Amino acid sequence: MRFAKSLLASVVLCSVPAWPAHAELDVTKLKQSIETSFESEYPQLDALYKDIHAHPEIGFQEEKTAAKLAAEMRAIGFEVTEKVGKTGLVAIYKNGDGPTIMVRTELDALPMEEKTGLPYASHDQQIWHGRETFVDHSCGHDIHMASWVGTAKTLVGLKDQWHGTLMFIAQPAEEEAAGAKAMIVDGLFTRFPKPDVGFALHDGPGAYGTIAYRVGVGSSNSDGLYIKFHGRGGHGAIPQATIDPVMMAARFVVDVQSVISREKDPTEFGVISIGAIHSGSAGNIIPDDATLVGTIRTFKPEVRARMFAGIERTARAVAVMAGAPLPDIRITEGTKAIVNDPIVVGAAIKVLKAAFADKIAATPPGTPSEDYSEFINAGVPSMFFNIGVYDPERVAAARNGSGPPLPGNHSPLFAPVPKPTIQTGVTAMTLAVLSAFDERAKGQ
Ligand SMILES: [Zn+2]
Ligand SMILES: [Zn+2]
Repeated sequence: MRFAKSLLASVVLCSVPAWPAHAELDVTKLKQSIETSFESEYPQLDALYKDIHAHPEIGFQEEKTAAKLAAEMRAIGFEVTEKVGKTGLVAIYKNGDGPTIMVRTELDALPMEEKTGLPYASHDQQIWHGRETFVDHSCGHDIHMASWVGTAKTLVGLKDQWHGTLMFIAQPAEEEAAGAKAMIVDGLFTRFPKPDVGFALHDGPGAYGTIAYRVGVGSSNSDGLYIKFHGRGGHGAIPQATIDPVMMAARFVVDVQSVISREKDPTEFGVISIGAIHSGSAGNIIPDDATLVGTIRTFKPEVRARMFAGIERTARAVAVMAGAPLPDIRITEGTKAIVNDPIVVGAAIKVLKAAFADKIAATPPGTPSEDYSEFINAGVPSMFFNIGVYDPERVAAARNGSGPPLPGNHSPLFAPVPKPTIQTGVTAMTLAVLSAFDERAKGQ
């Protein structure tokens, strides 16, 4: 509480003079103002970050984390609703007539042991799927939370510069790609205002102070693949009396890659990976069946449909070739690709380029998936962007081979440098939100 009030005061002191809503943003002045207020805010944000980092929680168990954020947001003046989508939060700040702009953070960490050796490293454990496991913020969602709180404070400090509603949401269970949907199902866009624009950021192993963005597709569609080949078991020395499902599984694993190389347009992104094969028990027994589990990643719906068709045809053909019954094939729909809105990105990029110059660049889409896409598909035009976390010199050395590779997200060694990373998160997100308010004001 004490923390938020002192921050707020510092932000207000540093705010720039008001400008008419339709005027161009004075980005240089604004950036200076945000950075000055960040300096005075940082000790408290640093404490919040390190506390959350040291005490991470797994998806849908983020109760203490959510309570910490709820307290922060209430102290800033937001109206907070807890337990939206199990452990999610919705924090609303109304500031006159105008659009509703959403900013999302995630709450969850990963079931793995941290090995960074940092003084604020996590040693906490939780029960996950019935087993006790270490927990680690190795995807950097703790950086997102600190940036989210910092952005909320900064925007409230600058409230004479914008009109409308801030809708800050903290979603559970991003890693399980379930939290965004849980919040929507629990009335995120019916019990609360439907946002006109949404923003989210994610950190990664680039240089701190840098921003990467994309217009259009920003992450992949992720679908699950399950196939069970039915054979006829028997003695390993009498194969003529059997139908060998291991042979079918092996043939499928190889042949299905021809869907990628021969059926998919080579200029389009598509991946099929078989991550697990389960069959058999001993070397001299031909088993009855073989099960394969995999993942299918694409950017575009038409590529996705074509790959589904190719995968199913290949699996059936493999069974027919072996004289076996048709296999069970199940493709489970997963997370959809993030598609960034060109108008939202266009407005934000104009402002972010003025603020970050050559430190911001358009990059190709990432192949991992993100359930922020649920909010976009529910009708919130959005921008999802990335920020770096490591010392630029270490990043350059890793890239040119003169230094060791730097641990990425989900590595037990992932260790963002907190201050410059959170500073970039707060500055970029504040400017992005202001660009959206300004763009909407211009359009009125
Ligand atoms: Zn992750
Ligand atoms: Zn993540």
